[in-house]
Amino acid sequence: MAHEASPPMPDNNLQRDEDLRLFRGIFESSGEGIMVTDAQEVIVAVNRAFTAITQFSPNDVLGQTPRALKSGRHDKIFFQELWTKLKHGGYWQGEIWNRRKDGSLMPTWSNISAVKNQKGQITHYFSTFSDISDHMAAEERIRQLAFYDSLTGLPNRATFYSLIKQTLILARRDNISGGVMFIDLDRFKNINDTLGHAAGDELVRRVSARLKTCLRSSDVVARLGGDEFVVGLFDVKAQEDAAIVAQKMLATFATPFLIEGHEISISASIGISVYPGDGIEVDDLIKFADIAMYRAKESGRNTYLFYSNDMNVRSIEKLQMESNLRRAIDRKELILHYQPQADIHTGEMTGAEVLIRWQHPERGMVSPGQFIPIAEETGLIVRIGRWVMNKAVAQNKAWQDQGLPIMKLAVNLAAQQFHPALTDEVAAILLEHDLSHEYLELEITESMVMHNPDQVVEMLKYMEKMGIKTSLDDFGTGYSSLSYLKRFPIYKLKVDQSFVRGLPADEDDAAITRAIIGMGKSLGLRVIAEGVETREQLEFLRAEGCDEIQGYLFSKPLPADEFEKLLDKNHRFPV
Ligand code: C2E
Ligand code: MG
Ligand code: MG
Repeated sequence: MAHEASPPMPDNNLQRDEDLRLFRGIFESSGEGIMVTDAQEVIVAVNRAFTAITQFSPNDVLGQTPRALKSGRHDKIFFQELWTKLKHGGYWQGEIWNRRKDGSLMPTWSNISAVKNQKGQITHYFSTFSDISDHMAAEERIRQLAFYDSLTGLPNRATFYSLIKQTLILARRDNISGGVMFIDLDRFKNINDTLGHAAGDELVRRVSARLKTCLRSSDVVARLGGDEFVVGLFDVKAQEDAAIVAQKMLATFATPFLIEGHEISISASIGISVYPGDGIEVDDLIKFADIAMYRAKESGRNTYLFYSNDMNVRSIEKLQMESNLRRAIDRKELILHYQPQADIHTGEMTGAEVLIRWQHPERGMVSPGQFIPIAEETGLIVRIGRWVMNKAVAQNKAWQDQGLPIMKLAVNLAAQQFHPALTDEVAAILLEHDLSHEYLELEITESMVMHNPDQVVEMLKYMEKMGIKTSLDDFGTGYSSLSYLKRFPIYKLKVDQSFVRGLPADEDDAAITRAIIGMGKSLGLRVIAEGVETREQLEFLRAEGCDEIQGYLFSKPLPADEFEKLLDKNHRFPV
């Protein structure tokens, strides 16, 4: 049996049997591997842990030298230094790589001491060691997590930055040019949504592998997250070189990916910025490549574009807002606030307007006034609008299910949402959440209505038949003519806050407000005033026959949990 080979009897130091048993006990039961050699480095004793760690039994190694375990990982100098220390200092400590009996590599942490006799001559070497492969594996794992993307094994954002920074320093020194590519898969979200995240992850892995085939080993490709990749290309002679790489990448996507039995076709949009022409800092180069990538998406996807100054025509600020906004939905940064609307006579809540907010990671709460225009300009508003509608309907249903007072929520619509498919879309959302139609109100604006009045009239009639009410927002700021207004099946006019603000002192505002209320009444519509902040405004509006009000006087737009508290108490506003 392996452990039956015993250490030699220590020559003259340990005479007493008692001592001998004790030391042998310690020797055998030590968790660390122990190996004793004589002065000629011949192994004379090993303990049980030695065998457990190295797989070598005493019979395998007794009489051999420690070179039986050698890994070949250390050079001559390493051993020269080890021996110098041992012979002169009597002690060495450090990492030694050995091989187990099965040939596998094994890092150990070793302590070696020289044992001397009374004359000061070395008689033995005594080495204790532990296997540190687990420890090293853990270290390696931590390194992987910190510097690499776990899904693809590619460098992560931080690593990319530091790699590119170093490369830029060299590029500057050697006067060479380079480029940064920003790559985003087109409609990747659809794949995640339809085939699930496991398939999405697999696709990302395969994409990263294909991207690598388009690059040279000196190029750096990293995953920034989601379906976004960046590439640092260096020592490219001219812009054309970068263009060739981009073309190669687009071409490599032309072959569909086979994932879980599905043939998945995907394309990518690529933006490229050039060093040093576009910028010399990593941040700028990535930012510009990102902007160019969004332009590539806008211009029909599956293409690449170089960043250019005319992309600067719209301010960078705005472009960044745009690219951030695109991601805001997926990153769940958009939230809804709810502002109560109340009966001007009873103070009872009649409903609430749903107002979107953007919880921007850096800017804090961004108001819709700042981002809705950008969302409209870029067409993003359609997706955002659908999200708002879905969320508002789901929330309303949830409140009803909690037994809270039943409330109508008014959702703002943008012009681009007002396309013929809207009616079906709204019906589908209501059906999905099982919310009765009368609890959804749509706010449209005058300008939307005037754009294509005939079509709008048809759609509104259809909505009305479905039981969905429509109100006309910002009334008085557009150009609605009374004749049109008559044809529109709307049920409520909202007096714009720009008129309310001056009430009651401003004569013009007072006259306009009076006229709007009068007109609404004569058409049989309800009238609500928005932006009511003072009691004087309320008194004026009530005296003129306004039905409802909405404004800071009663409540600011509230996050869902706070609004819920009002509902819970069946709150009545003081009128
Ligand atoms: P809006 O539909 O006319 O909404 C009323 C705006 O007046 C809201 O601004 C509201 O917070 C603000 N307000 C309410 N009471 C008072 C008050 O007493 N004093 C003052 N000074 N302001 C008051 P908000 O939330 O910033 O929204 C601005 C506009 O953004 C909205 O005007 C609407 O046109 C648009 N919007 C908001 N949410 C959405 C949305 O989900 N979809 C679309 N398409 N547009 C939205
Ligand atoms: Mg509104
Ligand atoms: Mg309004």
